Amino acid sequence: MDELIEDGGRRLVVGDRAGGEVDILGIGFGSSNLSLAIAIEEFNDRHPAGRRLTARFVDVRRQFGWHDGMLLPGATMQISFLKDLVSLRTPTSPFTFLNYLQEQGRLSDFINLKTFFPTRREFHGYLSWASLLSNVAVRAADILRAITDEQPASQPDHHANQQRLPAAIRTDPR
Ligand SMILES: Cc1cc2nc3c(=O)[nH]c(=O)nc-3n(C[C@H](O)[C@H](O)[C@H](O)COP(=O)(O)OP(=O)(O)OC[C@H]3O[C@@H](n4cnc5c(N)ncnc54)[C@H](O)[C@@H]3O)c2cc1C
Repeated sequence: MDELIEDGGRRLVVGDRAGGEVDILGIGFGSSNLSLAIAIEEFNDRHPAGRRLTARFVDVRRQFGWHDGMLLPGATMQISFLKDLVSLRTPTSPFTFLNYLQEQGRLSDFINLKTFFPTRREFHGYLSWASLLSNVAVRAADILRAITDEQPASQPDHHANQQRLPAAIRTDPR
C-alpha cells in the first residue's frame, strides 16, 4: 500500500514533497496522460520555479504501450497524424509526429505515401518514442486500487472541498 497524495490542495514547487505530494496525479500512462504530461512540461518551461506543477503518473504496465496487441499489419490510424500528442496546441513542439519521423529518417518516405493516416505500428512507435522523451515521473508496474476522499468531516463548504481536491490513493505493485 502506498499513499501518494496527502493533501493535493497545497501549491507545490518543483520536486516531490514528503509523502509523495504532487499537484497532478495521473492514473494510467496511456496516450491521453502522455499528452497531459507533455502539456505540463511545456507549462513548466514557461513558468518560474514557484509556479511550476509537479506531476506523477501511475501505470500497471511495465513499459508504455498503445493497444500493442492490436498492431495488425497494414492497420491504419482512424485520425489524421495532425491530431498527434501536441500539434493542435503547440505545432512547433519537439513532440510532434513530424519530428518523430524526422528523427527516424522517415519524413520523406511518409510524405510520399500521400496520406494523413499513418499505420498503427508507426503511430505506436511515435507514442513510445514520445513517452521516453518525456521527463515526467512514471511509476511503472503499479496498479491503482482505490481513491479516497481525505477531507475532514468538519469542513462544511462542499464547493470549497471540490476545489481543493484532497485525496489519498492506494496502489499495489503489479
Ligand atoms: C484497436 C484500437 C484502435 C484505436 N484506434 C484509434 C485511432 O486510430 N484514433 C483514435 O483517436 N483512437 C483510437 N483508439 C481509441 C483509443 O482508446 C485512444 O486512442 C487512446 O488509446 C485512449 O488513451 P487513454 O490514455 O485514455 O487510454 P489507454 O491508451 O487505454 O491507456 C490507459 C492506461 O491506463 C493504465 N491503467 C488502467 N487501469 C489502471 C489502474 N487501475 N492502475 C494503473 N494503471 C492503469 C493501462 O495500463 C494503460 O496504459 C483505438 C482503440 C483501440 C482499442
